[in-house]
Amino acid sequence: MTTFFQRLILTTLFVFLLFSQYGFAWGLTGHRVIAEIAQRHLDTKARKVLKELIGNQSLAYWANWADFVKSDSTFRYASRWHYVDLPPYMEKDTFVSALKALSGENLFSQIPVLEEMVKNKSLSTDQRSFALKYLIHLLGDLHQPLHVGRDEDQGGNKIKLTWFGKPTNLHIVWDELLIDFQQWSYTEYATVLDIADKTTVAQLQSGNLEDWFYESHVLSDKIYDNTQPDSKLSYRYNYLFVQDLNDQLLKGGLRLARILNELLG
Ligand SMILES: [Zn+2]
Repeated sequence: MTTFFQRLILTTLFVFLLFSQYGFAWGLTGHRVIAEIAQRHLDTKARKVLKELIGNQSLAYWANWADFVKSDSTFRYASRWHYVDLPPYMEKDTFVSALKALSGENLFSQIPVLEEMVKNKSLSTDQRSFALKYLIHLLGDLHQPLHVGRDEDQGGNKIKLTWFGKPTNLHIVWDELLIDFQQWSYTEYATVLDIADKTTVAQLQSGNLEDWFYESHVLSDKIYDNTQPDSKLSYRYNYLFVQDLNDQLLKGGLRLARILNELLG
């Protein structure tokens, strides 16, 4: 017979394993880089409204909040907002149909809902800032290609491999290990990436949600193609993907800025 405490320990262990397996979505640094780049591209009006909604802290300060609250059972319903799972190798039209046909709440369905909440002045400041904090984070997740990954391996979580000799999984490589390997602080990282001229910025900011999801889908296919289970990843992998990684971080930041300027302007 199990005692209450044995059951408590088992439950705690189970919850811990559940969350440790799923990793933390771009890790802390990735989300902060995206938020920091966005911060640098906000216009005056957006800055002002932002202050009213989330106070004096930067976007980077709030960038990981939506992952932190996963530990609070009140917000359990929102853990499905961080990703979509879809079949591989789709043409754009098929992909967009599949994205729209997904059932239940997910990364694609929630972004427009949260945008409406941020815009809606009849909601309370608390409600609007809640939506805003999620948006800052989810625009990041959308640009982590394995958050637009495959169902059968849970976005790479089930693909075990090693990173410089350390056992891990593909999802974690993309959430944090590849980013941490660059050894930039998040502000340094934002500075080195955020050098595009006006025309390029406008071009990177163009498109809509469907286009951006599709880019992540295409990149996730490239990642799956180039990362076999049980492989030993190190320098070569960094060389192969560092440009894709940097492109995604920059695009995520610039697009978050565009959305916030539109919503708060
Ligand atoms: Zn997330």
